[in-house]
Amino acid sequence: MTTSTSPLDRRLLERLAGAVRGELVAPGDPDYDEARRVYNAMHDKRPALVVRAVDAGDVTATVDFARDEGLALAVRGGGHGVPGHGTCDGGVVLDLGRMRGIRVDPDARRARVGGGCTWADVDRATHPFGLATTGGIVSTTGVGGLTTGGGMGHLSRRCGLACDNLVAVDLVTADGALLTCTDERDADLMWAVRGGGGNFGVVTSFSYRLHPVAHVLGGPTFYPLDADVLRRYRELIAESDERLGALLVVGLGPPVPFLPERWHGRPVCGVVTCWSGPEDEDDRVRDRIASLGPVLGRHLERMPYPVINTLFDELVPAGLFHYWKGAFAQGLPDGVLDAFVEYGATTPSIPSVTVVFPVDGACHRVGRRDTAFSYRDADFSIALSPTMTTREDCEAQKDWVRGFHGAIAPHAMEGGYVNFMDGDDQDRVRANYRDNHTRLTRLKRRHDPGNLFRLNHNIVP
Ligand code: FAD
Repeated sequence: MTTSTSPLDRRLLERLAGAVRGELVAPGDPDYDEARRVYNAMHDKRPALVVRAVDAGDVTATVDFARDEGLALAVRGGGHGVPGHGTCDGGVVLDLGRMRGIRVDPDARRARVGGGCTWADVDRATHPFGLATTGGIVSTTGVGGLTTGGGMGHLSRRCGLACDNLVAVDLVTADGALLTCTDERDADLMWAVRGGGGNFGVVTSFSYRLHPVAHVLGGPTFYPLDADVLRRYRELIAESDERLGALLVVGLGPPVPFLPERWHGRPVCGVVTCWSGPEDEDDRVRDRIASLGPVLGRHLERMPYPVINTLFDELVPAGLFHYWKGAFAQGLPDGVLDAFVEYGATTPSIPSVTVVFPVDGACHRVGRRDTAFSYRDADFSIALSPTMTTREDCEAQKDWVRGFHGAIAPHAMEGGYVNFMDGDDQDRVRANYRDNHTRLTRLKRRHDPGNLFRLNHNIVP
């Protein structure tokens, strides 16, 4: 580290360097530009220091340092957070990306996962044992932000949210303490970490419950964008077995070999199937999915579960420009479907896919006050996301997504999923937590009264 080029006092940096086993990266260092970068290119920030932590001791030292020096602290897991909270101007970035150890206990069906892992890491470690848990649908997404915000994916209907599968966390709190939280020990913090985002500390390791899921019938089926298809999708979710994961996607046909070329770039909708039930029912599931409308193309086959979480990876590589909005809906009211048809037809780019996650089934079996994530009565979580190749194009599409969200809002629930919110949605935080917001605020006052962990969808103490 070239301490002379950091705006931070040299002696301070040397003190921190003596307490940290990982790497410190400051402005002027060869790695600085890479170290400050996050997934969403809209956030081009210049931190005073990036700490690439390797263990819980590094995390504690960095938390103590930022707090004592009054510096902004950005906590980065996988770096996918759309509001760019994994970086900051002039403060300290605590990058957990080197804390990626995983230990699977197949007998207990548990995995202990480092706080900087991605879902690719988790899937890869659990799959050899024929086990899996709910994770994100893009494998490069971090477990840290996704789980602490709630976490929905292909297995949510069957296995619940990622945070529902959390059995323990090792958490570094604002006072620098390292706590192991469970439902028995520091249960308030355990409750808060299941949906309360990064507000309560830095999770250095997550322990998840695993489920026997090895191979699935998975992949997309595309149809013309049409209200009848969307209505049939709604019926499918209402009546189907929880072992059927079926995301709805709305947007422009991607240039994939199984979709005829004339549909590339034209409005389509699709269902991304993830059937984790028995293989001898695959044909029935295939036929049911095909019955939703005229099939334009499909890629629906048996695959290892980790593969289904990589199908979108190439569509949304790091370095694109994103601006997101989120909403929850009960059922999919006709007004929401009409908005999908209207705004879907003007989707600004192929990666700007609107994704609808069913969050019924196992997600509904957890009470709305049992975890900080409160929308247990929502059936669907909707992510709207213009994704562009330049900042100017993304700025230009903000009105499109605001219009889309505005068209959905009268038919949707009041709040949205924190992980689908952008940075300018801070005024919706209370609505996103509903009546859990009061308890979260009380806990924030107790555990982080100085609001050290404020670069997030912030619960103000
Ligand atoms: P980061 O930017 O690293 O972290 C975001 C915030 O989370 C941090 O600022 C911090 O407050 C907190 N945080 C991160 N790690 C830790 C930790 N170890 N301890 C404490 N706090 C931490 N969401 C879903 O639910 N399902 C999906 O399938 C899904 N797919 C996505 C696909 C893409 C391409 C993108 C961009 C996002 C997707 N999301 C999805 C949203 C995703 O959950 C959030 O973007 C999430 O914040 C990403 O977590 P991260 O660790 O990668 O991000």
